[in-house]
Amino acid sequence: MMTSKEIRQQFLDFFKSKEHLIVPSAPLVAKNDPTLMFNNSGMAQFKDFFLGNGTPPSKRIADTQKCLRVSGKHNDLEDVGFDTYHHTMFEMLGNWSFGDYFKKEALSWSWELLTEVYKLPKDRIYVSVFQGDDKDGVPFDQEAWDIWKAIVGEERIILGNKKDNFWEMGETGPCGPCSEIHIDLRDEAEVALKSGKELVNNDHPQVVEIWNNVFMQFERMADGSLVPLPSRHVDTGMGFERLCMAVQGKQSNYDTDVFQHTIGFVGNKCGKVYGQDKWSDIALRVIADHIRAIAFVIADGQLPSNNKAGYVIRRILRRAVRYGYTYLGFREPFMHSIIPLLADQFAEVFPELKAQQDFVAKVILEEENSFLRTLENGLTLLDKIIAETKSQQSTVIKGDAVFELNDTFGFPVDLTALIARENGLSIDEEGYKAALQAQKERSRKDATTSAEDWVILDEDFEKVEFVGYDEFETTSQLVKFQK
Ligand code: ATP
Ligand code: MG
Ligand code: MG
Ligand code: MG
Repeated sequence: MMTSKEIRQQFLDFFKSKEHLIVPSAPLVAKNDPTLMFNNSGMAQFKDFFLGNGTPPSKRIADTQKCLRVSGKHNDLEDVGFDTYHHTMFEMLGNWSFGDYFKKEALSWSWELLTEVYKLPKDRIYVSVFQGDDKDGVPFDQEAWDIWKAIVGEERIILGNKKDNFWEMGETGPCGPCSEIHIDLRDEAEVALKSGKELVNNDHPQVVEIWNNVFMQFERMADGSLVPLPSRHVDTGMGFERLCMAVQGKQSNYDTDVFQHTIGFVGNKCGKVYGQDKWSDIALRVIADHIRAIAFVIADGQLPSNNKAGYVIRRILRRAVRYGYTYLGFREPFMHSIIPLLADQFAEVFPELKAQQDFVAKVILEEENSFLRTLENGLTLLDKIIAETKSQQSTVIKGDAVFELNDTFGFPVDLTALIARENGLSIDEEGYKAALQAQKERSRKDATTSAEDWVILDEDFEKVEFVGYDEFETTSQLVKFQK
């Protein structure tokens, strides 16, 4: 069986043989792009080239890009662990043409790579083509249709709408149709019952999208009209973990060697075997997923903190710790101990983790310690609140309870919402915001009389959150109240 390392290398070698320059992944933390918190696609680091600012080092480039989809337009966090093919952090394999080759080459190469190099079964592959949108003035992608028809035949082509098959950088700017490649990994018996074609884009865990080919050929003008671009570009992205699932003949990304080491390691530590219990499996998946995101974001220079990108990471970490606590019985920090294993696994492709392995593990250990100190009491309180809520025939946890859990026990609001959901409840977000606002007013007043020099108040700070008592010492965490 091809290992994940080999699968990644084959991709890069294939495009190298088609005269692509192989470049390293950009950092996960998006620098110099105010519209993006984290890198969420392969093309992000090349955005300027598509906008005509600067010249790429080569007209053909390929790489594997670390991506994180936990905020903004692409937020897959709620699916992670519950499904088997969306991750927080994943690798996106990509190839690009900057004003060089176009649809013909891109689509036939993707077919060649999938069926000849990876030897995926041709009768399990479906492709999609943009159907056009009259209202918006974008035409049906006849060109892609004709190319695919010659390769796979009409019966394997699906027409897709604007949501799935048309890409736009923003309100204005480059845009164009996409063509996605999907694979049906169900067993023969199931395939005999229902055609895979019907299941494409239907959230079936074994009929998944693996690759997206975007063709930038128009520019959206401020008045909404579309003008053909003088030079046309190709931007593709393939989910590496999904590709590994397909090539290794697995039913879930987590069954591939990308995740099996971590799952085995964590399972050993807590005495659970993956595949035996629904909730411990979800917890093992969440942890195997989240630790990668946390580790690589820290290695790329973003420490957990109480605001923006740092708070996203802290929330992901607390989520994982709580899954470990509730479903795997962990009472002591455990996440940090996975780092050496991950560092070795990715040493060749993303050496930044190996290079900072001890530091990353230390940051995570501090975070775990700080959250575990309040987790148990917070969960006890939340259990009480849940029981009360139910006894009052309500399905909504009150806002001030959500606030107290956040303020006193360090429970991110989405974590409380998640636990509420597991109990068939939701949270009162408006009520939470009101409680938060009231707290801000109080702090503002207090701060004017407070003598504590570590309380630094910003006039219009937005978030007030408990950070634990002896946090890792970064300047952003020495202050209790901050923006
Ligand atoms: P999906 O419809 O499955 O959410 P997408 O259409 O949002 O995927 P694209 O933006 O087209 O994804 O990204 C290109 C490729 O990256 C996808 O074809 C898929 O293989 C992979 N991918 C996207 N999101 C994730 C994720 N959260 N985890 C793992 N792989 C992903
Ligand atoms: Mg998506
Ligand atoms: Mg999709
Ligand atoms: Mg897609």
